[in-house]
Amino acid sequence: MIVNLLDFDATGLTGFFANLGEKPFRAKQLLRWVHRFGQNDFAAMTDIAKSLREKLSSVATITPPMIISDKLSDDGTRKFLFDVGGGNAVESVFIPEDDRGTLCVSTQAGCALDCAFCSTGKQGFNRNLAVAEIIGQLWQANRALGVDPKGERIISNVVLMGMGETLANFDNTVIALRLMLDDNAYGLSRRRVTVSTSGLVPMMDRLADECPVALAVSLHAPNDALRDDLVPINRKYPLRELMAACHRYQKKAPRDFVTFEYVMLDGVNDSEAHARDLLALTRDVPCKFNLIPFNPFPGSPYRRSPAPRIRRFAEVLMAAGIVTTTRKTRGDDIDAACGQLAGQVLDKTRRTIRNVAKIHEVRS
Ligand code: SAH
Ligand code: SF4
Repeated sequence: MIVNLLDFDATGLTGFFANLGEKPFRAKQLLRWVHRFGQNDFAAMTDIAKSLREKLSSVATITPPMIISDKLSDDGTRKFLFDVGGGNAVESVFIPEDDRGTLCVSTQAGCALDCAFCSTGKQGFNRNLAVAEIIGQLWQANRALGVDPKGERIISNVVLMGMGETLANFDNTVIALRLMLDDNAYGLSRRRVTVSTSGLVPMMDRLADECPVALAVSLHAPNDALRDDLVPINRKYPLRELMAACHRYQKKAPRDFVTFEYVMLDGVNDSEAHARDLLALTRDVPCKFNLIPFNPFPGSPYRRSPAPRIRRFAEVLMAAGIVTTTRKTRGDDIDAACGQLAGQVLDKTRRTIRNVAKIHEVRS
């Protein structure tokens, strides 16, 4: 069987080479060629003996997901669409800023968690992405974006906030994270890699133990009644448990705060009273807030909160000393904003059919 070497981190590659009767340092050589230099042709790996290169090409490949489209927005945001086979496609978005370049990466084709305001969720779920498909998004984007004149990589930060619930694809995500952190691969610091989760409590504990990186939690509501509606996984892991998990995570986290993401939905979760309730809820968790103005998509029943209300909401949080940012809606013209990532998902849960019915209910 031909193996895809993009599926392996350092440990996996060491095992792979051991099976070929090769020494562990081969893993390091290969990681550098593939991830540091973006090479996927064994023939070009000149410090590896020709006989081994030939052997490698007969048992292995280095195959990232193929880029189907690459769109540049007026504001510099760039969206890549990747073919992951079987009629499914996933998206990555590159967001350039003055002091950093962030790539937002997907971890699943679709998402099974069905949050009320999310277009990925509304498409249903097909499958977890393989390690090669997760790290392959970074590999491809790095090749497309290159390095700056000082020789630094353009992508300085990665956020796992694209399509899918990251921690529901835990094992593959952790291997991809290890590659992002590995000095022989992408060499990113733990503070520059962020996992976003809707709150899979047991997996947050495992992440803290196995690969603590910066954490963002999609909160979206200050009480269980509202959060049960917006983020259905709350029925399984309610706010009290989620806050306790955030508190535990902080003991191992590379940053001294959790980022709470909060989508601003007009008339739903955006009043001053909601903001004050959030202060009470998060009292024991060192945190920052990132307010995300809702990004509409066809068929969604919500509207974006008006700008003055978002400002007022932020003021209430900031008055209590909580650093609060409001996400700029970027890449609007190419549908690359948060929650608009749609890719293409062949739903295996028949959710799409249920949702069409739901949308009709809301409209009629
Ligand atoms: N599944 C993970 C990560 C992917 S979603 C999670 O839920 O955290 C990334 C972020 O985009 C989450 O905070 C999510 O709640 C938010 N989001 C989803 N749909 C959105 C929309 N239509 N407008 C604005 N933000 C949205
Ligand atoms: Fe899944 Fe995150 Fe979208 Fe919820 S917001 S449906 S967890 S991708």
